[in-house]
Formats: sequence, structure tokens, C-alpha cells
Amino acid sequence: MRIILLGPPGSGKGSVADRLERDRGLPKISTGDLLRGAARDDTPLGRRARGYMERGELVPDDLVLAVLAERIARPDCRDGYVLDGFPRTAAQAESLERLDPGRPEIVIDIRSDEDIIVRRLSARRVCPRCHAIYNMVSRPPREDERCDDDGTPLARRPDDRPEVIRERFRVYRESTAPLTGRYAAKGGLHGIDGNGAIEDVYAEVRRVLDREAGR
Ligand code: AMP
Repeated sequence: MRIILLGPPGSGKGSVADRLERDRGLPKISTGDLLRGAARDDTPLGRRARGYMERGELVPDDLVLAVLAERIARPDCRDGYVLDGFPRTAAQAESLERLDPGRPEIVIDIRSDEDIIVRRLSARRVCPRCHAIYNMVSRPPREDERCDDDGTPLARRPDDRPEVIRERFRVYRESTAPLTGRYAAKGGLHGIDGNGAIEDVYAEVRRVLDREAGR
């Protein structure tokens, strides 16, 4: 089984994927995390991806597919995985079907309003070491701006600035939102409300998955 999480930046895909990994043992695959890792390690691929990410644009498909293919091929993905931030274009959706054909999938579209997202992402902090996600308003760390798990000082993502957030949202509307039509036509698309607290969003995701498992 693979679970595809669609939804604009900041809709909660990463937090939902973290919880699914913890509760259901399905590895979370975030192409954003993989690309940020490559950029941090200063690999040739990471160097090519960096500028696109800083501007809030899509990284070219050949780079994204390279990191995804390598990750999906690892043994922990044999029984399934959760995709956070992939696919983002129709071409990527087709590549996924070629890369790992015939795997049953559930697609969850987390719908959120732009103004709520800009506010949410402006308050987002991440742990540079373990990638845990915090929000200074709705999910602050226990100790001021330090990760609960490893004590690392939290950071802001460079692309969580309001003007870059708006650009990421625009790119989402233009390139990624149309994917819902594709998955609706295939069957297996579930839209949920992403405007509430992450606990409520995750409860809805669980309801979708439990309903599907019982079918
Ligand atoms: P995310 O962490 O999912 O918000 O992704 C952060 C940035 O990484 C995006 O704004 C893109 O620049 C890049 N990125 C992540 N996933 C993809 C993808 N599937 N296709 C193209 N670019 C991506």
C-alpha cells in the first residue's frame, strides 16, 4: 500500500506522514526532506536543486525522480510507504506508476486556505537534526526553540518567508492541484479539511484509512 498525501504547502502533509510512520510503520518519504538533505550535504544534485527550492519553484523532475527512485528501492519500502510532497505534477504521477507499478494506493487531499497557511508556515520551526516539525503557536516545543527529542536549536526553513510561501502556493495551484482530477478519475481520492488543528486533520486521515481497510 502506498499513501499519497496531496495538499498545498503547510497543509499538514509532513506532520500526518510522521504520525503514519509512527503508528502504522509505513516509512515517510518526503522529497522535500530528501532534496534538503542533498543540498545540505552539498552533493552535485543538491547544488542543482538548491536555487529552485529557495525560490519556491519546482525542482526539475530528473533530480526529484533520482532521489525518489533511490529511496523507494530500499527494503523498508517493500510493504508500502507514505509520500509527502510527491507527485507534484502529472508527469511525476506517471513516473511513479512506472517506477513502482501495480501498488494499491490511497490518495488523501488535505484542503487548506491560503491565509491560514501563510500564518501557519510563518510560525513553523523544524529540527535540523531529526526533522521534527513544530509550530510556535499550535505546537510549541517544551523548551524555548529547542527540539523536544534531541535538544537541537530549532530553525526556520528558508522557504517559509511570506513571499516564497505565496509562490509555493501559486505553483501548487497551477501544477499540483490538477492532480486531484487525475486521481478522482482513477478512484481512491479522499478530500479532507486541513484548516483545523493537526490532531483533527490526522483523525480524519485515520478515519479514511480505517474505512478503506474495512472495504
Ligand atoms: P516541501 O518540503 O514538500 O514543501 O518541498 C520543499 C521544496 O522542495 C519545494 O518548494 C520544491 O522546490 C522542492 N520539491 C519537493 N518535492 C518536490 C517535487 N515532488 N517536485 C519538484 N520539487 C519538489
